[in-house]
Amino acid sequence: MALNVTDTLGRPLRSLRISVTDRCNFRCAYCMPKEVFGRDYRFLPRRLLLTFEEITRLATIFIAHGVEKIRITGGEPLLRRDVERLIEMIARLDGLGDLSLTTNGSLLARKAHALRNAGLQRVTVSLDSLDDAVFKGLNDVDFSVERVLEGIEAARAAGLFPIKINMVVKRGVNDDSVLPMARHFHGTGYVLRFIEYMDVGTTNGWRLDDVVPAAEIIERIEAELPLEPVDPSYRGEVARRYRYTDGGGELGVIASVTQPFCGDCTRARLSAEGRLYTCLFAGAGHDFRSPLRQGKSDEEISELLRNVWTARQDRYSEIRTSETVSWPKVQMFRIGG
Ligand code: SAM
Repeated sequence: MALNVTDTLGRPLRSLRISVTDRCNFRCAYCMPKEVFGRDYRFLPRRLLLTFEEITRLATIFIAHGVEKIRITGGEPLLRRDVERLIEMIARLDGLGDLSLTTNGSLLARKAHALRNAGLQRVTVSLDSLDDAVFKGLNDVDFSVERVLEGIEAARAAGLFPIKINMVVKRGVNDDSVLPMARHFHGTGYVLRFIEYMDVGTTNGWRLDDVVPAAEIIERIEAELPLEPVDPSYRGEVARRYRYTDGGGELGVIASVTQPFCGDCTRARLSAEGRLYTCLFAGAGHDFRSPLRQGKSDEEISELLRNVWTARQDRYSEIRTSETVSWPKVQMFRIGG
């Protein structure tokens, strides 16, 4: 039986995102712009990354404290060598209801079967446009839409289903792609999710004017493809769900900027070097790698986790919406969105 821990706002710990690398093969301007993450950028050396055994040990402890869902992310998680071995180790753990992975899709065609065989249940694939010029402009490494679509198809064929497709929307950059994306995925069973463009600190030059509010995204789609809201499927679901009234499936919007959802956030994030973040916007994480490597017992690490979670009071997105405050830096590339 899980030891339920709740934070200062009564929120339980239910979901864990595990970043397995800080590296990515894309240079999306809104996340890891080339000017910052160029040739000279120093990514983490391998010895500082948690090993698969360390990750699995932490995952076991988190599950014992109420975690039911684990998502593997990055950086680009499929760049981590033998990541399917980690999936296999985590998939074996008792008490886990959902094991998923978020990817840019670039290596999915090659890896989908191995991931499925290792026990991965489903994937979320990021794709910001169907227009090759727009997409290449965003990923900044000349990667084509076609290859991501092949990855998505390979995931479906391997049985990694349902598949979600994440599109970050930035005004004047890819907002013209909203409707074509909705049309393309309508009726396919894939669940498209539009994400409001978020501030990643000093690296992406974020301005509120660049954000296309979720309400506007819905309005644009609804003008052509009528929608109705759907109730959340569980507490803490980040996407607001809608269904096409013609039976063409579902879509979601993640309105982190205009309609923050901190009140229901049950999510923790573990960075590749073993720091635990209790909020995407938390400026600093709590070090779990040192206690692991100092030989601390499971009980000592559990106590550390309980101390961090019970002291948790983050609700940065809500505070930011209501006040003008100096804002901690999002570590999107480090802790995986
Ligand atoms: N490389 C993987 C991928 O592309 O999905 C996983 C890591 S990526 C950081 C996770 C998600 O965060 C992606 O869907 C990405 O589009 C989203 N993301 C990154 N920067 C963002 C930003 N500034 N605003 C909103 N979403 C962002």
